Formats: sequence, structure tokens, C-alpha cells
Amino acid sequence: MYWAQIVAFYVRQGDASRATIAVSLIHNIICLMPELPEVETTVNGIRPFAEGRSVSGVIVRQRQLRWPVPRGLSQKLSGKVIQSVRRRAKYIMFEFEQGTLLIHLGMSGRLRVVPSTTPIEKHDHVDLLLDDGHCVRFRDPRRFGSVMWVSGDPLMSPYLYHLGPEPLVDEFDGHYLYTRARGRRTAVKNFIMNGRIVVGVGNIYASEALFRSGIRPTRAAGRIALERYDLLVAAIRSVLGEAIAAGGTTLRDYSSVTGEPGYFEQALKVYERQGQPCEACGDLIKRKVIGQRATYYCSYCQV
Ligand SMILES: [Zn+2]
Repeated sequence: MYWAQIVAFYVRQGDASRATIAVSLIHNIICLMPELPEVETTVNGIRPFAEGRSVSGVIVRQRQLRWPVPRGLSQKLSGKVIQSVRRRAKYIMFEFEQGTLLIHLGMSGRLRVVPSTTPIEKHDHVDLLLDDGHCVRFRDPRRFGSVMWVSGDPLMSPYLYHLGPEPLVDEFDGHYLYTRARGRRTAVKNFIMNGRIVVGVGNIYASEALFRSGIRPTRAAGRIALERYDLLVAAIRSVLGEAIAAGGTTLRDYSSVTGEPGYFEQALKVYERQGQPCEACGDLIKRKVIGQRATYYCSYCQV
């Protein structure tokens, strides 16, 4: 809403060029928002550098993120060994014997491994120093990300306990979605984007998976047959799997660990293709706002 107001302000002022710049900036921010594949790519990139290493300190330059970074992290973690680096939903977990450092990238966060001597840049808020002279550096221009400490089982913490299954595990199947959808009139797109049902199905992936499975995004979740949920789950898995294999959607900076850009964007069939012909039938792709999110679909192929 805030962004829309900025654009509206320039439009009212008759300043078309500023309005255009604002729209393109907003577009960039939304496109760069880390989704599950980018977080997975980040975790896979960091793990070999961090697992088994001990921490030699924590530098916090900016404490005011989405939630304040807890005090005393450096004393708490110095000399402690990172036992594992894992992901749950879009949370990155650095697990220690004493507890877990839980990092969320928010809208614009990046996590990279660099030599500790690398000069800091604007928005480099937190460094987790490793004993081999590297550090895990957290940069977040918009500061919607977070760095938190959880003692005890992180999966039972208030951040994670209510979350639905991961989309790539066996527990998540057509029968599971079908069962959870009974009696629900909510649009199936909102249903699969609900983190209590399944985590990590962001806007791009929901649109693409619904296209691949031939399901209209507006269809009521409770009115979809089991067989179609089997197809939808297969589509969610393949769309996320391909994006992970490609290293994310568009996100050049996630590559920092591997240096490879994400090419998944080129495989998008409906997302942001409104007005262009559907590759399957030639009808024009439509755009509709569902649950305040732009949704793209083919009204011939998806019923
Ligand atoms: Zn079509």
C-alpha cells in the first residue's frame, strides 16, 4: 500500500518520469524478494564453509532489523561450533549445541561467505566471524530480515512450530492437500500459498504450478478432486525443484556463493506474461489480483 501511495503521489503531481522510476524500483524490489529456492541456494552455498567451524565472534553494526538483534550474541557464540546449517521454510538455521541462530532474509536480505577482511558496505548489518578468517555476512537494505536466537528445539519455537510441511518431502502429497482442503471455499492459489498448509510456495511458484496442473487459480480449494491435487503437488515439486536447480529465479546476488545466476526466470510460462500467448493453446495470458497478489493464468488451459 505504501508503494502504491508513492506512485499515486507522483501521478497526481503529473510527474510521469518519477512515477515510472518508482514503478520500476518497486518491481525490482518485489522481483528480488528471496523465495524458497533462493534460500535453499543460500543454505547450500554457505553450508560447506560454515558447518563444523567454530565462531570467533559476532559483529552487529545495525541492531534494528525487523526485530532487534539480541544482545550478547558474540559472548554466547564465541568458541562454539556450528553443528549444522539447515533451512526450514524460509528460515536459515545455524545450529549450535546451546541453541540456534535463526536468520530470515525478509524482503531484501542476503547472506554471503566472504573473507572477514572484505571491506564492509552500506547495509552490511551483521557478521558471524568464523575461526578460519571468513565470515557469514548479512546485508539487508530494507531491514525486513531478522537475526534471532532460539534456545531449545528451533522447530518448536514460535517462529516455526505452526508451519505446514516442506513442499519437497514425502509427507506433502495430493492426499494431504485434498484432506486439508475439505470445506474450504478459499481460492486454491491462496490455499497453497498459506504457510500453515505448506511452506515455500511463493507467488511465482503458485502461478506456475497451477498452470502446469491445469487448475484455475480462483477455483475453491474444497472443490478440487483428489486426482487434480496429485497433479498439483507434482507440479509444485517440479517447479520448485527446477528453480532450486537453477539457483533461484532472478536473483543475481544469491549467486555470490557459487557465482552462477539463476536462469529459472526463462522457464516461466504465465508469471508476468499477461497479454502474451499461452505456449500451450495460444490464448492470451490473463492477470487477476487474488488475495492482493497478482495472479497469471490461461483461461483455456486452466479450469
Ligand atoms: Zn493455454
